[in-house]
Amino acid sequence: MERRNAAHQNDGMSATPLPLIAIDGPSGVGKSTTARRVAARLGWQYLDTGAMYRATALALQRAGLSLEDREGLERLLAGLDLTQEGTRIYLGGEDVSEAIRGQEVTRLVTPVSADARVREVLVDQQRRIGSSGRWVVDGRDIGTVVFTEACCKIFLTASPEARARRRFLELQAKGGSPVLEEVLADLQRRDQADSTRAVAPLRKAEDAVELDSSDLTLDQVVDWIVAKHLAHP
Ligand code: C5P
Repeated sequence: MERRNAAHQNDGMSATPLPLIAIDGPSGVGKSTTARRVAARLGWQYLDTGAMYRATALALQRAGLSLEDREGLERLLAGLDLTQEGTRIYLGGEDVSEAIRGQEVTRLVTPVSADARVREVLVDQQRRIGSSGRWVVDGRDIGTVVFTEACCKIFLTASPEARARRRFLELQAKGGSPVLEEVLADLQRRDQADSTRAVAPLRKAEDAVELDSSDLTLDQVVDWIVAKHLAHP
């Protein structure tokens, strides 16, 4: 993802905390909406790393490439042109913000994001972006791998049922006819894949604070994170 920032070395050895709030957690917990709101409240920038993995999956799909085609994958990654402007994500200059939310990309992004080479390239881009300025970044491995020196790490959770119910209502509000059991099964499939993969599995960083949002509103979660950050900036 092209940004103006200088290269950033994150070797996990730096003792200087970065002005960066890392929000990790399972699918459907509301990380993106929360992170966006926290960023707006603090006047910081927001980076959606899930959108980067999704856009990469879309690029692979469009190129008709499988992950087994290592040469093709290398070529694709070398030319990958991702940009984020506000809440929109662009692939080669095309706004793909809606296209990356489709069912096929959601299915494909699981194996794509488990690929070590894909992660290497995207993590490098994420570090370059976050190396200057103040950022709220959401994902699965932000506090454990990408920005281990983030000044504030949140591990946001909610029960699978609470997450499925929220996602179900969201899909309904968009005019869809979701089936609650299917939404729940899909979340559980992604939880299982994300937390058992060999590379950068989803887990809470040792120095992250866990917040169970099952019985909290979005406003309460945002208030809690902002207060937490202001108490230990
Ligand atoms: O957050 P979102 O659901 O849009 O992310 C899409 C997928 O990308 C996730 O299911 C997860 O497998 C992967 N992902 C990841 N590491 C991140 C962000 C997302 O592996 N930092």
